[in-house]
Amino acid sequence: MHIGKDKIEELRELLNRPQRIVILSHTNPDGDAIGSSLAWAEILLKQGHKVDCIVPNKYPYYLDFMPGCQSIINYKNDSEGRTAKAVRSADIIFCLDFHTMSRLEGLGDLIDENQHAKRVLIDHHLNPVEEFDIMVSYPEASSTCYLVALLVESMFGKEAISRTMAENIFVGMMTDTGNFSFSSVTPDVFRVVSILAETGISIPDIHTFVYNSFSEGRARLFGYVINRKMKIFHNGSVAHMSITADEMKRFWFQQGDSEGFVNYPLTIKKMKMSAMFTEHNDFIRVSLRSRGSIDVNLFASRYFNGGGHKNAAGGKSFMSMEETLKYYEKCVKEYAAEGMLG
Ligand code: 5GP
Ligand code: MN
Repeated sequence: MHIGKDKIEELRELLNRPQRIVILSHTNPDGDAIGSSLAWAEILLKQGHKVDCIVPNKYPYYLDFMPGCQSIINYKNDSEGRTAKAVRSADIIFCLDFHTMSRLEGLGDLIDENQHAKRVLIDHHLNPVEEFDIMVSYPEASSTCYLVALLVESMFGKEAISRTMAENIFVGMMTDTGNFSFSSVTPDVFRVVSILAETGISIPDIHTFVYNSFSEGRARLFGYVINRKMKIFHNGSVAHMSITADEMKRFWFQQGDSEGFVNYPLTIKKMKMSAMFTEHNDFIRVSLRSRGSIDVNLFASRYFNGGGHKNAAGGKSFMSMEETLKYYEKCVKEYAAEGMLG
């Protein structure tokens, strides 16, 4: 995959003198959101720009090892007004790893106050919603981190990719591709990985930090959810699971603990689609996964006001948990009746 020459030139032009830059990523930031933000911030800082990375809420604790993550501003916990200060004075706002301002939740209103900053999208989600001054939007890319690596390579040469940048980029590439197993993985993804590996990163260490650093509560919650909360229906081809606020308390839930649970039902033969519902203060978070041609991006946008990718998407429900699960089963029936479940 190549990023268009016109995009590279537009970015060069935009960045040809020191700028005040804000890098934003989405609510419930994941490895790709944090990795792409930190890697992009590092290269921009080296070019002499002033850079602030901002996320709407905290990233999961197992990403704490990512180089530079202490500098990220968490809008939800920002009692010093650092977010407002950075956003108001920004000349450029980069939006990484999301395709609609609605994924910023409350932070979106603050961003709207700055109408003079140039807005640049660097993302791999389908159907970007808003207009941007520059759009580096490639839904076929397996991760935003991969796009950032291609940008850095095109604009500054592969030698500009430092070891810390490579660690951050590798995290996003690894997590957004299910350990390089999804259909979005291309030969060029491995070419980029080889550039990252050349910098001396330790792939086993990164793997351990991301996948083997959970709490005991998370392991017990996982067993409980699979054993007690997984319902399989539609002839064994669709599953759903849920976690209520009470259950979170029982298992000392920390943000990020349920990440990845939704993939597990897809390890069952003939399973086509899986959903996870987690209770939050004002809504239920919906997480969807599918195999092959089954389109959960469309499912999420149609039934849960959300979106994402063809095989991994999410949204929200504002009904009770019980009603949400019933509604999901009804939607699955409707979707299947239209031939959308194969
Ligand atoms: P996850 O299930 O890992 O939270 O999200 C899977 C994919 O769906 C991600 O690419 C994420 O960006 C997208 N996604 C998750 N929640 C929402 C949402 O509420 N709205 C939209 N538009 N996309 C979402
Ligand atoms: Mn991503």
